Amino acid sequence: MDKNDVLVLAQIRPAQMQMLEERYQLHRYDQASDAERTEMLARYGERIRAVLTTYDGGFEKELLDQLPNLEVVACSSVGFDSLCVNDCQARGIPVTNTPDVLTDDVADLGMLLLLATVRRLLPGTDWIRSGKWVGQGVMPLSTSLKGKTLGIVGLGRIGKAFARRAELSGMNICYYGRRQQADVSYPYYSDLEALARDVDVLAPVVPGGAETQGLISREVLSALGPNGYFINIARGSVVDEPALVELLQSGALAGAGLDVFADEPNVPQALIELDNVVLQPHLGSATVETRDAMAQLAVDNLAAHFEGRPLLTPVPI
Ligand code: NAP
Repeated sequence: MDKNDVLVLAQIRPAQMQMLEERYQLHRYDQASDAERTEMLARYGERIRAVLTTYDGGFEKELLDQLPNLEVVACSSVGFDSLCVNDCQARGIPVTNTPDVLTDDVADLGMLLLLATVRRLLPGTDWIRSGKWVGQGVMPLSTSLKGKTLGIVGLGRIGKAFARRAELSGMNICYYGRRQQADVSYPYYSDLEALARDVDVLAPVVPGGAETQGLISREVLSALGPNGYFINIARGSVVDEPALVELLQSGALAGAGLDVFADEPNVPQALIELDNVVLQPHLGSATVETRDAMAQLAVDNLAAHFEGRPLLTPVPI
């Protein structure tokens, strides 16, 4: 029997790539040159029934337009702001993502950034490396998390897991979102600037995309104030990054812990040079265990589609 044709826009974990190799006819768009891609689409475009991708791999409408018989898109990430999901859904093509399996790791990274930034982990290491402990004695004091307030912008799966971790460090939690959640007891703010004024740490955990572009504006960051910290494990696009840099440089913000940036992998030099900032190269879900689970979920979604079963984790329409 002929194998179904799958266009691969990004590689997932080796074991799951192996499973896909065995089950499908894979077309490695991710490994092809521009000329090879054109030839691949001309030869196989009409046969492609599924696309496999990741947040980094993306999926643009221009490519969708060249796949007239596409039936399903499996994305190995929870965020799908780099994919043309609306265009797919408008054509009746479901898109799947990988929620839940990465929640704890991303929340851990949020907590790690929060602790490292506020307790000044990297300056502490530098204090030893540069000989200051011997030469100058004890380092200036940092700030306690206990009794401080964390404001979560977008209290979904990861936001809630992050909040639980922060509570263990003695923090109070409140949140902003499009609506108040009936089953959540944390104080709700319908005004984002008011939330920023009232908290010590502000952390967006919303999806990226047009709706949240620049949501954390200069005004919101200014409202956070000179003793306020900003932690971003969501997307670089949700914050006014130039304003963030300016406020951190001038001391109008105390510090930031950032896993995501506006133009990855390019990080503004000014951020790299600041010592009140902790930076990570978009590692929220980047553990072996979680990437394996995400890859398996993408494979299982493809299997469900081709076996005529309901998709496990379709992106809601
Ligand atoms: P989720 O459960 O869908 O949570 C998203 C939250 O954002 C929901 O509470 C939603 O609330 C809220 N929201 C959506 N649009 C909003 C808007 N325009 N304004 C205010 N709030 C809004 O998703 P999740 O699994 O927690 O993932 C959240 C995001 O984390 C992902 O989309 C991704 O961008 C990011 N992420 C980053 C990494 C990393 O490596 N750093 C890894 C995974 C995920 P309502 O729908 O109730 O309004």
